[in-house]
Amino acid sequence: MIQHLKNQSLMDKEIQSIIIPVEKVAHVQLANPLEHALLVLIKSGYTAIPVLDPTFKLHGLISKSLILDSLLGLEQIEVERLAGLKVEDVMQPSLPTIHKEETFAKALTLSINHPFICVLDDDGSFLGIIIRSSILKLISKYMHQ
Ligand code: AMP
Repeated sequence: MIQHLKNQSLMDKEIQSIIIPVEKVAHVQLANPLEHALLVLIKSGYTAIPVLDPTFKLHGLISKSLILDSLLGLEQIEVERLAGLKVEDVMQPSLPTIHKEETFAKALTLSINHPFICVLDDDGSFLGIIIRSSILKLISKYMHQ
């Protein structure tokens, strides 16, 4: 199968065709109240979404589990903590990124451990995301050609 993929030069392809552009990516801002992030996550149905600043630079990732962890008291979930926290207090600052001109092979490797990968421009601006399911879909298409 690997030989087949190499023959089709899928691995050397650029990732542009599978990027979900920024305007279609659910995201929150650093200074947003944590409650807003939780609402976006629940309404969108996503597990985790990127955190941006007003200039569209990427700063981290916020997820349902990070939010739940931040509400964990000694013996109970302390929901009232939500009101006093901002996204930047709870987000995870490190997350996988890929440059817009990288190859499909790099995206495939990163997708092993991450359901989505953030795509950056030369100056570090956030361009969008690549999701694992798009990577698998493209591989499946090549295999069935
Ligand atoms: P999916 O393969 O569609 O389940 O996406 C996997 C993960 O990628 C989701 O749980 C989200 O964390 C993220 N994701 C997918 N699509 C979007 C989107 N449009 N906006 C923000 N995050 C997304």
